[in-house]
Amino acid sequence: MEDKPMLIGMTVGGDDPIASLERVKSLGISTCQMYIPPKKWQSKERLELIKRVMQEKRVRITALVCHFEGERYDNIATIKRTVGLLNRATREKRVRKILSSSDFAKDLTVKVLQAHIGFIPEDRENVDYKGLVKTVQKIADYCKRNGQSFALETGQEKARTLAMFIEDVNRSNLGVNFDPANMLLYDAGDPIEALDVLGKYVIGVHCKDGKRPERKGELGKEYPLGEGDVDIRRFIDKLKEIGYTGPLTIEREIAGEKQVKDILKAKELLERLR
Ligand code: MG
Repeated sequence: MEDKPMLIGMTVGGDDPIASLERVKSLGISTCQMYIPPKKWQSKERLELIKRVMQEKRVRITALVCHFEGERYDNIATIKRTVGLLNRATREKRVRKILSSSDFAKDLTVKVLQAHIGFIPEDRENVDYKGLVKTVQKIADYCKRNGQSFALETGQEKARTLAMFIEDVNRSNLGVNFDPANMLLYDAGDPIEALDVLGKYVIGVHCKDGKRPERKGELGKEYPLGEGDVDIRRFIDKLKEIGYTGPLTIEREIAGEKQVKDILKAKELLERLR
């Protein structure tokens, strides 16, 4: 497939990869980031089927997104406890899942593996910070052997904390999937300014919009693209300024008809702005 800059994409579920690819195609979109499909989809036959449908539909999976059992996004405290790799009780099991997902991504010829690793502590001397550095080094090295980059979803911590963490991990195939709305939802700083800090690490982006929380400890609210406080025009201009040419992946975390409507509107908006 030709590699034009800033192809439009969308995030899709992995429960039925074929249905997801068909859905992307039906919306006139050519790339997607897909959540890791369940084990039953990882057999050789089904893998070949996914590859064939990707080719037939001319839809490319630009990244596979790791997710874990037991993750909950109710409020900040729950997120800290349940999301990603911060909690030592679930860390090892989840790392094993990431490594096996890297093998699956390789078989599928997907070059980016992506994950929310959880809130990165701001203190470099924190035992969990050090643990996360070692863990992500291990994951990045494994991905590198599979010819992949490992992308951290942004927004749960401030951009400077994430940049410091990436420097400490010190692996050339480690980068970020930049989600400007998350910076607002988690009240973690200004998304456009964050791109100045993280620009050189951006491997992918989520085109998502939102507003900051009204009360501390809560999450802000997601809005359709262009209706929140991200300022999508500035966001796209900034991406051009830092030389980003990768896909613009629309993320709209609701379901049903409204989701389809919002994705199509987002696509139109991005086609004008890119
Ligand atoms: Mg996102």
